Amino acid sequence: MDVVTIGESMVVFTPTSDGFMRNATQFTKKIGGAESNVAIGLARLGHQAGWISKLGDDEFGKAILASLKGENVDVSNVTFDKQAPTGIYFKEPRRQNNMRVYYYRKGSAASKLTPSDLDNGYLSKAKYLHITGITPALSDSCKETIFEAIKLAKSNGSTIVFDPNLRTKLWDEKTARATLLEIAAEADIILPGVAEGEFLFGESDPLKLGQLFLNHGASVVVMKMGAEGAYYFTEKESALIPGFPVKQVVDPVGAGDGFAAGFLSGLIDGLELSKAVERANAVGALVTMVNGDVDGLPERDEVEQVISKNGEDVV
Ligand code: ATP
Repeated sequence: MDVVTIGESMVVFTPTSDGFMRNATQFTKKIGGAESNVAIGLARLGHQAGWISKLGDDEFGKAILASLKGENVDVSNVTFDKQAPTGIYFKEPRRQNNMRVYYYRKGSAASKLTPSDLDNGYLSKAKYLHITGITPALSDSCKETIFEAIKLAKSNGSTIVFDPNLRTKLWDEKTARATLLEIAAEADIILPGVAEGEFLFGESDPLKLGQLFLNHGASVVVMKMGAEGAYYFTEKESALIPGFPVKQVVDPVGAGDGFAAGFLSGLIDGLELSKAVERANAVGALVTMVNGDVDGLPERDEVEQVISKNGEDVV
């Protein structure tokens, strides 16, 4: 297994018309969840990715499981909870670039994850453990599960990759800051955005933030900069790797997850950091061009085409 990740996936409903959702009569139904997005992104690029989660024993849980199986993500450590439902959420596209999100996930099956759901034999097979700041926000037991997974991954020698993925709707700011900083201190590689860095350290200069994250414990920091691309920082070097030009952003949500999948893909293939970030930028750019969190995640030949043509005539 190349990467194992842990988190909640939900069914996402989006009205087919703009405007207030109260007036909507038709919705599209898709699935979404940061960690499963990353797992799907990796699988599409030809890597072995496993997703640990809990689903409700209901129609939506079955839909999510089928979808991930169909994407060749390993779901052998996904269990069904008989009492709690699968989480759902709605996206309300009010205007262009203004998407409201409504969660119905409190008490969901995934929020019932506990450390006893972790199988160390399974985790020990992973070269990388990917975690996000969403899972510890779901419940106390989810938070314990994440810290236990980190402990096991460390003892197994796996590399811990952390995307803070701040979701202020899910927890209070003080707890969020303290918990995300605690996880960041344990991570080998961290993939923040500037806004997340500012939330954690009160600093908005990406260069200073890179150093702050390194001082906090990470050995590699990759800071996402939207259309500009991303910086990477280690104690020895740092550089801005420019993003690929996108003519029209259709849906920016999920770009960060695609970026994580592209970056991990580069590391698994043994690329140097600058090239892994370049691959991450290509995947992130491709994701923004398609509606839906996972729909734009590319296969390998599409990424290679974007990189070889430097985005021209492609994105
Ligand atoms: P998300 O909305 O998924 O949480 P994020 O805030 O974590 O995303 P972004 O910086 O928005 O992260 O995007 C991640 C990466 O995707 C960027 O670093 C870049 O490589 C690519 N990307 C995002 N937006 C664009 C764009 N408009 N043009 C080109 N590339 C983009």
